[in-house]
Amino acid sequence: MTTNTDAVVIGGGVMGCSILYNLAVRGVKNAILLERDLLGSGSTGRSSGAVRMHYSNEVHARMAWESLRIFQNFDEIVGGECGFTQTGYLVFSGDDDVDAFHSNVAMQQSVGIQTGIISRSDAQEIAPQFYLDDCPAIAYEPLSGHADSSATSSSYAAKARQLGASIRLQTPATSIQVSKGKVTGVKTGDEVIETSTAVVATGPWSRRFLLQHGIDLPFEATRHEVIHLKRPVDLIPHHPGGGDIANMVYFRPEGTDLTLVGNGNIEQVVEDPEVFAQRPTQSFIQEVWSRIARRIPLLEEAEFSTGYAGLYTSTPDSHPVMDKVDGIEGLYICTGFSGHGFKLSPMVGILMSELVLDGLAKTIDISPLRMSRFKEGELNMPAYGFRVLV
Ligand SMILES: Cc1cc2nc3c(=O)[nH]c(=O)nc-3n(C[C@H](O)[C@H](O)[C@H](O)COP(=O)(O)OP(=O)(O)OC[C@H]3O[C@@H](n4cnc5c(N)ncnc54)[C@H](O)[C@@H]3O)c2cc1C
Repeated sequence: MTTNTDAVVIGGGVMGCSILYNLAVRGVKNAILLERDLLGSGSTGRSSGAVRMHYSNEVHARMAWESLRIFQNFDEIVGGECGFTQTGYLVFSGDDDVDAFHSNVAMQQSVGIQTGIISRSDAQEIAPQFYLDDCPAIAYEPLSGHADSSATSSSYAAKARQLGASIRLQTPATSIQVSKGKVTGVKTGDEVIETSTAVVATGPWSRRFLLQHGIDLPFEATRHEVIHLKRPVDLIPHHPGGGDIANMVYFRPEGTDLTLVGNGNIEQVVEDPEVFAQRPTQSFIQEVWSRIARRIPLLEEAEFSTGYAGLYTSTPDSHPVMDKVDGIEGLYICTGFSGHGFKLSPMVGILMSELVLDGLAKTIDISPLRMSRFKEGELNMPAYGFRVLV
């Protein structure tokens, strides 16, 4: 069987869904998204959903800031729910990071982000239950918070469908067909979908999928654990989200009485993204619980609620590839977002649609995210050892 379409998006995580929607908005109404399993079944469904602006490079700070505006007005701009909840976000510097921390906050302010270094006493007012005596520097983003990655993906998918796009679940792309240096189709089982444009947004599956097409990029699937603690709400009714470089944890409130906690340096390489342990280990729970209790001591009295693990698509600099493939006209790559891609997803869809339709991402210069940077040695190395706050 053969079908014909203007574009095929491979992968139904938040990036694929955002790209599909933005292509449809730009007039590519018949695009097809292929998803090997279910929407959000990769990294997206396990995302902690933090929407904060603290980055150490401009391209990400800009993408996060522009995306925040879309999360804040999601129903009006896209339509549907994204679950954005504004909690404010505190970032805690480690002792060795103070200079980088100050210059990163200055860079973020220069792109227009509402953030600033605040005093310990101001931070204590924002977060009365936090222990702050050890903090060499604290930044605060009043507008940041978190959103729901599954809802965001579903909303993008639903709106794309309304605009004419179609989505095929449990339909893996098996290969991309190329003739005379141009994409001619995407194969899925016995079917060939004829197209001149294929966007690869396959998350942790990307390395293997691209290798079979001769594209060797340093993507690695890495496993990361998250726990939810039921906090004593009489003592800690609510708290802002935060990234704590000193203690290598990030956290945010979840629902009315839970605190979600993830970490910034414990990870495990996974050979096959289909096979990894879904639940956190006892040692992880103990380690991360003791780290968060250094910042929020009353959480020692919390109860363990649940925990799970998910996969990042890690790269040597923890930053993604958003690029067209030189030598194969019509092939685009959008993956490698490590542990921080969800917050960027609204702008990623816009920028990838610009790259596909205009030949260049115009709204933000994404050339630092080109695929050749690994060979050129021009990595965007994160400022801290924290693999999430990059
Ligand atoms: C535990 C955890 C916590 C996180 N916390 C945050 C956070 O707080 N804030 C933040 O901004 N980001 C966070 N992230 C990162 C964020 O979730 C990811 O960057 C983002 O979800 C990546 O989306 P994606 O679409 O690129 O990948 P994925 O969601 O993995 O989607 C890729 C999709 O491609 C499909 N696929 C693969 N191969 C094929 C094929 N051949 N054919 C068809 N389909 C295929 C897969 O099934 C999958 O659904 C977190 C991630 C994890 C795991």
